[in-house]
Amino acid sequence: MPERTSSEIARDTFRLLAERRLLPTPDNYRALYEETAGTKSTGMPFPEAALRQIARVLPAQTPVQKRLFTQFEAALDQRSWHDLKRTLVGYANLGLGATSVAAAEPPPPPSAAGPRPSALERPVLEQVARVVEYTVDAVASDDARLREQALPLLHCLRQDAPADAGALRPMLGDFAMRLSFSTEEQAAIRTGLLGAMNLVLRNIGELSMDDRWLQGQVEALTAAATPPLSLRRIDDLQARLKDVLFKQSEAKARSVEAHEQMKRMLAVFLERLSAMTEESGVYQEKIEHCAERLGQAGSFDEIAPVLQEVIVATRAMAIDSRRHRDDLVTLREEAEASQAAVGRLQQALDRASAEARHDTLTGALNRKGLDEAVEREISRARRIGAPLCLALLDIDNFKKINDRLGHAVGDAALAHLAQVARESMRPQDQLARYGGEEFVVVLPDTRAEDGLQAMQRMQRELTKRFFLQDNEKLLITFSAGIAQLAGHESGVDAIARADQAMYLAKRAGKNRVMLG
Ligand code: GH3
Ligand code: MG
Ligand code: MG
Repeated sequence: MPERTSSEIARDTFRLLAERRLLPTPDNYRALYEETAGTKSTGMPFPEAALRQIARVLPAQTPVQKRLFTQFEAALDQRSWHDLKRTLVGYANLGLGATSVAAAEPPPPPSAAGPRPSALERPVLEQVARVVEYTVDAVASDDARLREQALPLLHCLRQDAPADAGALRPMLGDFAMRLSFSTEEQAAIRTGLLGAMNLVLRNIGELSMDDRWLQGQVEALTAAATPPLSLRRIDDLQARLKDVLFKQSEAKARSVEAHEQMKRMLAVFLERLSAMTEESGVYQEKIEHCAERLGQAGSFDEIAPVLQEVIVATRAMAIDSRRHRDDLVTLREEAEASQAAVGRLQQALDRASAEARHDTLTGALNRKGLDEAVEREISRARRIGAPLCLALLDIDNFKKINDRLGHAVGDAALAHLAQVARESMRPQDQLARYGGEEFVVVLPDTRAEDGLQAMQRMQRELTKRFFLQDNEKLLITFSAGIAQLAGHESGVDAIARADQAMYLAKRAGKNRVMLG
C-alpha cells in the first residue's frame, strides 16, 4: 500500500466521521484516525518520542538486527502497537538463538511477509543435524524407533527452505525424549551385562578351585570388569577371558578323554576276568573229576581214557588262555593307541597355548601379550601425541634365592613380585614377563620423570611387603631402566634402551632405577 501523508489520513478521517454520522469529538476523531491509518486502537496515547529514543539505542549491526531495526522504525511511523510488539519479540529472541518468534506469537498475516522471523541460521542447523547423526550412530543400533524419528528430523534440518523453529521444536523435543529413554536403557543393559559376567566369573572360579593360576586370572577378570570401564580395560578383559576359556577347555578335554579311556579299559578287564574265572572254574571241576577217577582206577586200561580226558581239558585250557592273552594284547594295543591320541591332543593344546597372552606362573602378559600391548600403546601415543614409557626390571640376586631355597620358592617369589607390582601400578599400566626374572612395565601417558617415580614407588611397595617363606621374611629388590619412546623409535629399540639403563643400575649397586 502506497504511503499516505498525515493530511490525507486526516481528510479521510473527517469523511468517515460524516459517513458514520458521529460527533467530531477528540475520542471519535482519534479512533477513526487510527482506523484510517491502519493502526489498531489500544485506547492508549502513542509515546512516539520515547519510542524514538529507544530506537536510537537499538543494535543494528547484523543483517537480522538491521531488518528488525527497519521494522521498528516502520512500526513507529505507522504508530502500530502490533508491529512494535512483533519487532521487540524478534529482538528478544535473538539472544535465545534458535527460539522462534512464531512460538511466542501467532504467525504474521500474509501482508506482513518479508524475511521470516523464525528462520534459523543454516550452519547452526547443519551442526544440529550432525549431532543427531552422531547420536543415532552411537545409540540407535539397539533402538530402531530412534533411527525412525531421526530421519524426518534430519530432513527438516537439511531442507533447502529455511527451517522453521516452530516445526522443528516438537520434533527435537520428541527426539530428545526418546534419546533419554534409549540411553537410560543402554546404561541398564551395561549394568546387567556386567552383573551376568560377574556371575559367570564366580562360577568359573568355583569350578576350578584347584588351579591357582586360573583363580588368579578370575580375580583379575572380576577386577577388570568393575566400572568405570575403559577401552583398555575391555581389551585386557577380552585377552584374559580367551586365556581362561582356553585353560578351561584344555582341562575339560583332558579329563573327558582320560575318563572315557578308563571306563573302556575297566569294562574290558571286568569282562575278561569274569570269563576267566568262569572258565577256570569249569576246568577245575573237570580236573577234580579226572583226579577222582584216577584215584579209583584199578587198571591201566581205566587210566588211559582219564588221561585222554585230562589232555583234552588242558589243551582246551591252553587254547582259552592263549585267547585271553591275545585279547589282553589287543586291549593293551588299544590302550596304547588311546594314550597316543591323548598325547596328540596334548600337543594340539600346547600349540594352542601359544595363543595365550598371559604367563601361567605370574599372570602377567607373556611375550605375545607384551608385543600386542606395546604395538597398541605406541599407535595410541602417536595418534594423540601422548608420551609413553617402557620400563624393564630385573630381580636382584635372584639366583641366590633359587640356590638357597629351591626353584619352587623362586617361582613363588616371582608370582609375589608380579602381584605387588600390579597393585602399585595405575589401571592403565601393564605388566609383562619379558623373560626368566625380567619384567617390562608399559606406562601410557607418562613422561620419563614420572615413569621414574612410578618405578621407585613400586620398589618402596616391595620393601614394605615382604615375601614370606616358612616364616622367613625375604626382601626382594629389583633394578630397573626406563625409556620414554622417542619420535619414530620402535618398541624393541625402546626396550633395548631401558635394558641398557637397567644394566647401568646393576653396575651402580642394584636396587635402583635409571633413565635410559
Ligand atoms: P642380578 O642381580 O645381576 O640380576 O643377579 P641374578 O642372580 O638375579 O641374575 P642371573 O641372571 O645370574 O640369574 C637369574 C636367575 O633366575 C637364573 C635362573 O635360574 C633364574 N630363573 C629364571 N627364570 C626362572 C623361573 O621361572 N623360576 C625360577 N625359580 N627361577 C628362574
Ligand atoms: Mg636377568
Ligand atoms: Mg636378576
